[in-house]
Amino acid sequence: MPLLEGPVGVEDLILLEPLDEESLIKNLQLRYENKEIYTYIGNVVISVNPYQQLPIYGPEFIAKYRDYTFYELKPHIYALANVAYQSLKDRDRDQCILITGESGAGKTEASKLVMSYVAAVCGKGEQVNSVKEQLLQSNPVLEAFGNAKTIRNNNSSRFGKYMDIEFDFKGSPLGGVITNYLLEKSRVVKQLKGERNFHIFYQLLAGADAQLLKALKLEEDTSVYGYLNGEVSKVNGMDDASNFRAVQHAMSVIGFSEEEIRQVLEVTALVLKLGNVKLTDEFQANGIPASGICDGKGIQEIGEMMGLNSTELERALCSRTMETGKEKVVTVLNVTQVRKKVMGVLDIYGFEILEDNSFEQFVINYCNERLQQVFIELTLKEEQEEYKREGIPWTKVEYFDNGIICNLIEHSQRGILAMLDEECLRPGVVSDSTFLAKLNQLFSKHSHYESKVSQNAQRQYDRTMGLSCFRINHYAGKVTYNVTGFIDKNNDLLFRDLSQTMWKAQHPLLKSLFPEGNPKEASLKRPPTAGTQFKNSVAVLMKNLYSKNPNYIRCIKPNDQQQQGRFTSEMVTVQARYLGLLENVRVRRAGYAFRQGYKPFLERYRLLSRSTWPPAGPQACLDRSSQVSIPNALLSTQAQKFLLNLKKNLPSTKVLDNTWP
Ligand code: ATP
Ligand code: MG
Repeated sequence: MPLLEGPVGVEDLILLEPLDEESLIKNLQLRYENKEIYTYIGNVVISVNPYQQLPIYGPEFIAKYRDYTFYELKPHIYALANVAYQSLKDRDRDQCILITGESGAGKTEASKLVMSYVAAVCGKGEQVNSVKEQLLQSNPVLEAFGNAKTIRNNNSSRFGKYMDIEFDFKGSPLGGVITNYLLEKSRVVKQLKGERNFHIFYQLLAGADAQLLKALKLEEDTSVYGYLNGEVSKVNGMDDASNFRAVQHAMSVIGFSEEEIRQVLEVTALVLKLGNVKLTDEFQANGIPASGICDGKGIQEIGEMMGLNSTELERALCSRTMETGKEKVVTVLNVTQVRKKVMGVLDIYGFEILEDNSFEQFVINYCNERLQQVFIELTLKEEQEEYKREGIPWTKVEYFDNGIICNLIEHSQRGILAMLDEECLRPGVVSDSTFLAKLNQLFSKHSHYESKVSQNAQRQYDRTMGLSCFRINHYAGKVTYNVTGFIDKNNDLLFRDLSQTMWKAQHPLLKSLFPEGNPKEASLKRPPTAGTQFKNSVAVLMKNLYSKNPNYIRCIKPNDQQQQGRFTSEMVTVQARYLGLLENVRVRRAGYAFRQGYKPFLERYRLLSRSTWPPAGPQACLDRSSQVSIPNALLSTQAQKFLLNLKKNLPSTKVLDNTWP
């Protein structure tokens, strides 16, 4: 596919005429139908999921995007990755790549493209290559254990991932730090109709040879395992067996020893086997002891694999106390202590509206609200305020600020998460319905909250909502949450006896997963709830993101069938609306495309003018804390070309006089 042929539609929506929703969608559609899946809004990349492999990612494309500046070639994720990497290297600014969009829109694929581009262009040499390999190979491992087939996406991320790639001053990678956010643990024991458990279970059964299966005491047939007994065990186009080999290889590249890989697989097998342990009674969450285990042989085998006495194991499985597991996993790869620059890549689980939404969707959607807030604050709000500060005439572009929804969820005293914690920690009889009652009492008049008893619902005469539900009017649509299980999931309590027993296991990896089972570490202090842990880690993430220069990839899902070539205008319109694309174009078009602080500008270009070089020239402009800007109103194709040539053509004396353009 040639890179430089004439554009299909407009490549940058800033040039769109007329500028309205209809033509915006039509332009995306026209481009999509011509296999042009990327379109710009200034420096923001819009990516419409092609659901097919396009021939636009080969080494020749990487080489091309490396040599050209942003607007010279067709829109591409590589162009964005290139700008981010070059600014990190040349301008010494930490970067972050924020990838948003709903489940199945293409975020994870985009994050992998960014990573592989950066890996291809940054540094050379044996050690550098080994770091790159490790960074790239973290993906298959994380996906095996953290992704699953859902109704919306055959490879849906069920955890959030933020990766900081660290570089030295030359721009060679030093290593990476990966932070994971709240894995959807409940999937291990239960999946919705049409969905699967995490990939690794199927990969293991399909890919392990007879010898390994025997050693792990597993059977190849997925239907043997209670945790895998949904009606789907295979995913179209997904080869579990070969993926298993890829995961094993990736683990060894990352630095797992043979022995460690075996232990990971043993623990994976143990989870499957535990799923088949039948109790004579159900576990009871309310503290009433459950009975015993009816499958003596099974539990004995599990005990042997764990290196535990089976009587002790049985006792642990049937009694309860408390403690919690950690959510944040940090992997530090081979980082040496030097001056570091950082590029963060954020790929979280996408916004999700299911038929039955629970605590997991609540958390996922909250995270998406926060990310939308970053975009709004930096791209729509801050941008417009900047013009006001600079005294530039400006007609305000209106947009929906979802701060009100973030607040509804996360307000430290009066937010939904705070109410949930309050119920979890309150003595006395608490239940999901007392929690809901509390929400109803507090938020019945909130414009983004509805329930059966709230004013909003009554006004709209909504009979569809169940009694155990509340609804949030999210930035991306209304979601009805069923509160059943919220209290338990937020408490996230592990029976303390269970941790203590697991800590006694001879199996080294298993033991290490339960440090809190060590009697010396034992505490009766209540661990933070899952909701609070999540909120805190999102707050840390946000602080981290705000400290870096943001680059945006806005992913769009063109249809609900995961089908190539199918562009459903209605669906894209909804997404374009909630992503605020039109507002983004308006602000960008009315505003200034190119901005540069006076000081770095002068430093970079002073050589070009006799009045600034040698350095005795007029320095007065340095005292202004303002910027040199070029209005977007000028931004015809010609103007774009002009921008590209800025470096060569700029009459810097005029800029310094502040009379240009
Ligand atoms: P979730 O929030 O559920 O994790 P996601 O936004 O991360 O969703 P992806 O897993 O990246 O979605 O994409 C879903 C699927 O769409 C991929 O498995 C792949 O088949 C296809 N896809 C996405 N982007 C591309 C692309 N650039 N080229 C080819 N196929 C793609
Ligand atoms: Mg994903």
